[in-house]
Amino acid sequence: MVIYVDAPKPKIVKCKDCGKEFEQKGSARYPRKYCKKCSEIRKKDYEDLWKVKAEDCDDA
Ligand SMILES: [Zn+2]
Repeated sequence: MVIYVDAPKPKIVKCKDCGKEFEQKGSARYPRKYCKKCSEIRKKDYEDLWKVKAEDCDDA
């Protein structure tokens, strides 16, 4: 485990998709729930979804 001493502390959170731990940037406007890999996949899925229907929005 790495200890961060600088002000905007990245939180270590578990990806809700694959369970892998990743750094969540404390300064991020939208805290990520997924690791980089999964969020890329999800972003792609999301964009694909939007092409079909603009119904779901679980962005909270
Ligand atoms: Zn993941």
